[in-house]
Parts: sequence; structure tokens; C-alpha cells
Amino acid sequence: MRILRTIADVRAEIRAARTDGRSVALVPTMGAFHEGHLSLMRAAREENDLVVVSLFVNPTQFGANEDLSTYPRDEARDAELAEAEGVDILFAPAAAEIYPDGFATNIHVAGITEVLDGASRGAHHFDGVATVVTKLFGIVAPDVAYFGQKDAQQVLVVRRVVRDLDLDVRIVACPIVREADGLAMSSRNVYLDADARAQATALNRALDAAEAVLVSGERDGDGIRSAALSVLGEASIDAEYLELRDAETLQPVDAVERDALLLVAARVGAARLIDNRLMRGVA
Ligand code: AMP
Repeated sequence: MRILRTIADVRAEIRAARTDGRSVALVPTMGAFHEGHLSLMRAAREENDLVVVSLFVNPTQFGANEDLSTYPRDEARDAELAEAEGVDILFAPAAAEIYPDGFATNIHVAGITEVLDGASRGAHHFDGVATVVTKLFGIVAPDVAYFGQKDAQQVLVVRRVVRDLDLDVRIVACPIVREADGLAMSSRNVYLDADARAQATALNRALDAAEAVLVSGERDGDGIRSAALSVLGEASIDAEYLELRDAETLQPVDAVERDALLLVAARVGAARLIDNRLMRGVA
């Protein structure tokens, strides 16, 4: 595996791969790898010739009061883990390589960025995501890029950018990888102390409870949400949001007819956690 720091070096490798007719995959990450990240690398490795993982804690997607300065960073460990997954290139640029002086462009997706995490974290969040992902697509020009369904809204934002800007890249969303007790893996789980770590399992249990009532015939949004809310309440978790939304448009829905997502965000101890579950529609 090669660790590259500059756009020029990445481009040279990609050009060589293209000359040889090799397919190129990209896995964008912010590092602090866990099994969720590794599952994306594995999927990329199985299906492509050249696998590029980007490791960049993107400053523009963090708010002023968020955890940019404390976000977990361990490039040496990440490099070992990526290499063990057969990754070919780890692209780990400095911030100035991505945002040189004079950088002035912003990719803003209207609508779906203004709800849920966009409302909680502010519009800058998905602008930062959309802009950096568009740049990474420009740098790597991948055939396919892998994202985690854990960040369901992010996947939809990226798909919208690709469609609207006619970017020639296929987007694959990989399933949420969980700890043995159901907590969705996240780089931010390291912020949880023992009590908060136990409390955090309520997010997945709340989604389980919602899915259970759905499977037993409940289609009404309030009924589904209240099953989840009572689990969160028992764990003394006051959700930032717990919302049922159309799985493609993220429009609010009153009942599960088409596929819907139940999405939750909550502050648990020192961490802000998100999770979601597909509520399969009848249509
Ligand atoms: P991050 O480093 O948090 O920006 O995440 C990089 C990629 O890994 C994103 O596409 C995430 O959605 C994905 N990811 C993070 N956690 C998980 C998880 N538990 N399961 C699956 N994918 C994940």
C-alpha cells in the first residue's frame, strides 16, 4: 500500500491504472478506522482492481462548536488496518492540499440537506460533505465509491450531487456494522464512558422496537415512533430527532407505505450519535 499526500501523486497512480484498463474504487473516510470502515474497504477490494481510501478529517463539515480538534486521529494504526484489507492507496492529504489559499467553491444541495442532521448541525455540514466528496471524485475519478448506510442522509446527499452534476461514478451504500450489543460502530464511540456506552445501546434497541411493531402490522408513523420513543425514554435519552421519512426523498411521512427510514440522533454522554433503520414499505 502506498500512502500519498498530494493530488498530483494520486493522479499519476490513477492514470497508470487507467492505462492498464483497471477499475478504480474510492472509499472516503475521516480515519479512526473500525469494522464499519473496513467493511467498505472489503467490498471495494472484492469488486475492483485499484482501491483508494481517502483519510481526511474534513474541517469544513464541522461546526464551530463541534469536535474537529478532538476528533480521534491515528494514521499509523489506520494505515496498518487498511493495508491488511488489501487497500492499494491511502490518500492522506494535509488540509492545505484540499483547501489551498483562495479556495472559494461550495457545493450546496438544496432540500434534503436542510432537515435532520442538516437542521441539527447546520447547513454547513452537508455543504462540507458535498464539496469534499465532489473534490475527491475529481481527484480520483473512481468508477465506484463506497459509503455506509449508517450515514443515510449523507448517502442521499452524495447520490443527489452525482445525479445533478452528471458525475460518472456509481455509489454503493453498505450495511450498518454494529457492535455485538447492537450499537452502530462510530469513530465517536470512543467519547463514551462506561455508563454512556451502556446507555447508547438504547438507540439500536429503539429501532428494533419500531421494526418489531412494523412487522406486527403497525404502519402508522406515530405508532412506530412511540415504540422507539418509549425505549429511548427508559434509557433517559432525549433524542435530537426521531423521524420517519421517505427513504429516497427524506420527505416526512405519516405512515409506512413506500420504503421509509426511521432516523435518530441523540447526545449520549460526550458523544453525538446517529442511527437509522429501513422500515420496509408494502408498495
Ligand atoms: P467517517 O470516517 O465517519 O466519515 O466514515 C467513513 C465512511 O464509513 C462513511 O461512508 C460512513 O457512513 C461509513 N461508516 C461509518 N460507520 C459505519 C458503520 N458502523 N457501518 C457501516 N459504515 C460505516
